[in-house]
Amino acid sequence: MNIALVGIGKIAVDQHVPSINASSDWTLAATVSRSGTVDGVPAFTDFDQMLTERSDIPVVSLCLPPVPRYDYAAKAIAGGRHVMLEKPPGATLAEVQALDAMARDAGVTLFATWHSRMAKGVAPAKAWLADKQIEAAHISWKEDVRRWHPGQQWVFEPGGMGVFDPGSNALSIMTEILPQPVHLRQAELLFPSNCDTPIAAQLTWTGKVTGDFDWLQEGPQSWDITVETDAGTLALHDGGARLLINGQEVEAGADREYPALYDRMAELVETGKSDVDLSPMIHVADALTLGKRITVEAFHF
Ligand code: NAP
Repeated sequence: MNIALVGIGKIAVDQHVPSINASSDWTLAATVSRSGTVDGVPAFTDFDQMLTERSDIPVVSLCLPPVPRYDYAAKAIAGGRHVMLEKPPGATLAEVQALDAMARDAGVTLFATWHSRMAKGVAPAKAWLADKQIEAAHISWKEDVRRWHPGQQWVFEPGGMGVFDPGSNALSIMTEILPQPVHLRQAELLFPSNCDTPIAAQLTWTGKVTGDFDWLQEGPQSWDITVETDAGTLALHDGGARLLINGQEVEAGADREYPALYDRMAELVETGKSDVDLSPMIHVADALTLGKRITVEAFHF
């Protein structure tokens, strides 16, 4: 199937283009970006023009930041295209629900992707936890924003979600693997004095589930989730790529998060289904609703 990639920025170049090129399901038939291009691929700067001129492209993958993404998704669906959304799927919950309804009415696929759910250890972690009693769990998601999002000012603007941009990856794993849902009881959010989104957060859910999210972590980076159960400890490291159960390595080797997302999109389009799970974003919205806000020193890239 022909596919168009929209928003040729960091994640499009790092992951989407190689995953599409490596797949036998997809042909990268066009890009849409105000500045980015991909060698050898017809490039548009105007999305409407691409939709009008390229009726041979039935699928659009949107790699834009969440705030501008809705308008593109709505236009694509109105134009009869199947749509794949980067995470987090939108700037608000209601706008993604609106897209879901529009896609249903138009009879096209909408896939709200959560790439971390495709990490190698996540499915076996979910399977192992399914019949366990969960006694406690902890998320430690600590990375250096300057290293992973160099100069991306949008993450600190309204709708950019701040530390919950990477933090939503942890929440997408948590909501996938825990056998029972949890809900937020308390949150502390650290807002730099010059930013509209938090740079760090500490969250406490029901069921003794806690989360520590920090975007100022220098040195070793951590993307870890540990779950204490009646049958011992499960630990996911490296964003879900490594799984240890009671200290024993269960899964190792190369990850294929984005290739797996494109496999899934091909399957959804073929079977005429959508996949839109907002549960990770509900926890972000709850944190921003319930959280105590603490102002900290200004942040500069
Ligand atoms: P980015 O590089 O800052 O932005 C992607 C592209 O979106 C830009 O190159 C830009 O292309 C376009 N864009 C930005 N603002 C726009 C606007 N207002 N209107 C139209 N186009 C706009 O961001 P990214 O890191 O690739 O992240 C994009 C999405 O992927 C985010 O939702 C993020 O959470 C997710 N993601 C990122 C990473 C990562 O490591 N960075 C990992 C996983 C997922 P043009 O200016 O050329 O049009």
